[in-house]
Amino acid sequence: MISEHVQPDPVSIGGLLDWGVRLLASNSTSPKLDAEVLMAALTHRSRSTVMAFPERAISRKLAKEFRALMHRRAKGTPLAYLTGHKEFYSINLRVSSDTLVPRPETEILVDQLLRHIAPMGVAKVLDLGTGCGAIALAIKQQRPNTSVVAVDASEAALSIASKNGSRLGLEVEWIFSSWFKALDEQQFGFIVSNPPYVGREDPRLIDGVLRHEPREALDGGMDGVASIREIITGAPRVLAPGGTLLLEHGNDQKLTVSKLLRANSFRSIETHQDLAGHDRVTLGRVA
Ligand code: GLN
Repeated sequence: MISEHVQPDPVSIGGLLDWGVRLLASNSTSPKLDAEVLMAALTHRSRSTVMAFPERAISRKLAKEFRALMHRRAKGTPLAYLTGHKEFYSINLRVSSDTLVPRPETEILVDQLLRHIAPMGVAKVLDLGTGCGAIALAIKQQRPNTSVVAVDASEAALSIASKNGSRLGLEVEWIFSSWFKALDEQQFGFIVSNPPYVGREDPRLIDGVLRHEPREALDGGMDGVASIREIITGAPRVLAPGGTLLLEHGNDQKLTVSKLLRANSFRSIETHQDLAGHDRVTLGRVA
C-alpha cells in the first residue's frame, strides 16, 4: 500500500510512472499499461515515446493532473473515461461516462453481421442502444453502401455518437428513441443490439467493476433479459421479410435468448462465442 503523502518527483516522467504503478498495484490488472497510457494522453505523446524517455521532465501542473487521474483510476474509473477515447474495430471513438465503454467482445457482434453483407452490399441496418455509436460506425465503415440508423434513449450518448460520426466522416442517422418507439414505418434487413443485459442485483453493477458506467446501459432488469425481451418481441414488426436480428447477451443467457427468439417466430437461430469462449451473440431470422 502506498501512502498518499509520498510525493513523487514532480518532474521526471519515469518517477511519476513508478509511483503510478505502485499506486495501482492492487487496483488494476495492468498498472504499468494504465500509467503509460494516461501519461501519453496527458502529454500528447505516443506510449512508446513516454516509455523511451523516462528521464524527461513535465511541468508541475501536468504532474499534478497525472496524479489526479491515477487516483481516479485507482478508484476503478475505466481508463477510457480518463483518456476520453477507446479503440473499437480499428476506429478511434470518443467516449464519456454517458456511454458504455465499447468492449472487445462486441466486435463479435459486428463480425457476425458483416458475414451477412457483401463488402459492397446494400442493406438497411438498425442499431438499438448505440451508446457512443461503436457498432453503427464500425458497420458503416466496413460496409459503406449500407444505410445505418442508430437509436438511443440517452440524448447525451447520441450527442457523443453523432460527433464521433462527423469526426470520422461516417454517415449514420441518429434517432432519439427508446428501442423502436420513435421509429416510423421503415423496415430493416438487419437489427443489431448490445442491450443492457446485466441482472439488476449483480454485484458488479452495485459496487463492482461496472459501477462507473451508465446504469441504463447495463441494467437488464431483475432477470437481466428485460430489454432483450422487449427487443425480440418488437423486432418482427420492424424487420423486412427474411430479416435478421443479432443480439449480444450475457454468457449464461443463450438458452433464454434462443427460446424468446423461437417464441417470436425467429428461425435459423445460432449462437457464437467471444474470444474467451463465452456464448455472447445469438441471431435469428424472421420468416
Ligand atoms: N459486457 C458488459 C459486461 O457484462 C455488459 C454490457 C451490456 O449490458 N450490454 O461487462
